[in-house]
Amino acid sequence: MVLMSEQKELYLGYATDKAVTPFFQKFLEALAEEKLLMSKCTSCGTEFLPPREHCQKCLSKAELVPFTETEAKLRSYVIVDFAPETLTSKAPYVVAIGEFPSGKRLTAHITNLMSMPEVGMPLKLGFEKIDDKRITYKWLV
Ligand SMILES: [Zn+2]
Repeated sequence: MVLMSEQKELYLGYATDKAVTPFFQKFLEALAEEKLLMSKCTSCGTEFLPPREHCQKCLSKAELVPFTETEAKLRSYVIVDFAPETLTSKAPYVVAIGEFPSGKRLTAHITNLMSMPEVGMPLKLGFEKIDDKRITYKWLV
């Protein structure tokens, strides 16, 4: 008898496309538990955040590994006034590139800003369940 593992339907952020690969599904399931995963190339060891299924350098397969840094600094940002359809209710909003001490960068929304963002300001990695299927990571100030 073959046991079917139950797969939860999960989406990243405001996306409406299904998680199409087991790799991406695993990433989303970890995210739902408030764990961020990156990927590491099984051949050359290059790390990718957000994770990529295949290495950009040597095209080998990459595996998901935990990413444990949570504190970053604001590197760059853009204020989005004219949002895509799924995000119009959120506009204007801030999309920021945060840089972790390791040098890895992550692009995400800042959702709790009370004043204008400033390059160099500290950011903290956060998670948000938008509804029971949609999960995302974000920056908190
Ligand atoms: Zn590689």
